[in-house]
Amino acid sequence: MKDWDEIAVAKLKSAPEVPEGMIRLSGPLEHDNIVNGDGLRAVLWTQGCPNHCKGCQNPETWDFEAGFLVSIDEVLERLSKFHGQRGITFCGGEPFVQARACREIADRVRKDFGWDVWSFSGFTYEQIKKAGGEPWELLKSLDALIDGPFILSQKDLSLKYRGSKNQRLLHLERGSGKIISIE
Ligand code: SF4
Repeated sequence: MKDWDEIAVAKLKSAPEVPEGMIRLSGPLEHDNIVNGDGLRAVLWTQGCPNHCKGCQNPETWDFEAGFLVSIDEVLERLSKFHGQRGITFCGGEPFVQARACREIADRVRKDFGWDVWSFSGFTYEQIKKAGGEPWELLKSLDALIDGPFILSQKDLSLKYRGSKNQRLLHLERGSGKIISIE
């Protein structure tokens, strides 16, 4: 593993934790979103990102102390009012630094609403796998991951759901985390 991968894994593992049963968000829950995954989707915007990509469109989501804490039960209660959604997408901020909370939401929306679950991450699939623990458990509960940092020099707005050419849309086998296909 290259040096920068080791640094990324260390960043992922050392991010501050939120209290159990809570999640830190950067904004309100969305519904009927069509730009962050297939079909009509709810979107959950997490707060806190250690990646600090040059050209990031959401730098206000970097601060781990900003945004607001909310209980997972309240999030689920609000999501239950969103009818006709195909699934939910976790955006950031960096969802994988709140992997435990995101995984709980993923498991419950799948079970209670029949939704699929996608997530963005500024970390790569390989870095998340290397980190193990809760980040890897979250990845295993997803149907799709859009991975990798935003790299300004590789910016390409024609890409589906992605901002730069290095980022990949990975369709995953739920439960194992195995990559089924790559877009
Ligand atoms: S990972 Fe996403 S939210 Fe974090 S700095 Fe990069 S583009 Fe911004």
